[in-house]
Amino acid sequence: MNADDQLRSDIVEVGRRLWTRGFVASNDGNISVRIGPDRLLMTPASVSKGFMAPEMMVVTDLDGTLVSGAPGRKPSSEALMHLVAYRERPDVGAVVHAHPPLSTGFAVAGIPLDRAVLAEVVTTLGSIPIADYGTPSTPELAAAVAPYVKVHDGLLLANHGALALGKDLFAAYYKMETIEHFARISLVARLLGRERLLSREEVLRLQELRDRYGIASPAEICATPASGAAEADPNCQVIVAPSSPGARLVPDTALRREASSGGVGTDEEIRLTYAELTTLIEEVVDEMTADAKAAR
Ligand SMILES: [Zn+2]
Repeated sequence: MNADDQLRSDIVEVGRRLWTRGFVASNDGNISVRIGPDRLLMTPASVSKGFMAPEMMVVTDLDGTLVSGAPGRKPSSEALMHLVAYRERPDVGAVVHAHPPLSTGFAVAGIPLDRAVLAEVVTTLGSIPIADYGTPSTPELAAAVAPYVKVHDGLLLANHGALALGKDLFAAYYKMETIEHFARISLVARLLGRERLLSREEVLRLQELRDRYGIASPAEICATPASGAAEADPNCQVIVAPSSPGARLVPDTALRREASSGGVGTDEEIRLTYAELTTLIEEVVDEMTADAKAAR
């Protein structure tokens, strides 16, 4: 089998795995591989990724223009999103896009997978942020993805799905598996009501491991704790991890303490019964009335 035939059947195999694992429904998702300086091999539009054949694939240039393919086959509707990844990242050799239900759930809830929870995820993917919503198959979605692909190999797409980038096809596919597996574990921990996080010191130790073992990553983990996405450095991977010189594992309540700098944080929930709330309001009204009288 020559290299082109091998890649075509690898795409078929990766599509079959995406479908078998429930990462896609109907004709969702798309897969592409860089096969030359200005050539991509990708899945065609409107096919189930679970039932593809090697001859269905199309070849495009880096502008997404069809170069060759079986009669009637067109490039994937999400080609634009793939193109931006290849343009921004010369090291990327393959892109996989799917709608895995757990990661997409996080993307719908607006919760990024950016907490330091699993050492393996920190060393391989770093953090998995959420790109803003953009209408699928339009340049809007490609533009939303562009700022994130520079420093991340995995990201969530708001109210849509997930995107994984790799040096080759299977590297990209395994990253998609890791994203969904991480989402599953994060969901279980949160349902159980407790999520102990790796301390910032431990996360920085993991960054050293990346360096020592030559684990390829588009960017380093940000050295300082992130206090908010708006202030995040766009050139490093933001990972939420509480600082703790002693403990390697820190309960996530430490996060809230850090954020609120003592006392009850403004984001924290308090619960009052209707009677308690009524009493509280009456007390405040009485106090205000008393103040008003004293002022006269
Ligand atoms: Zn999609």
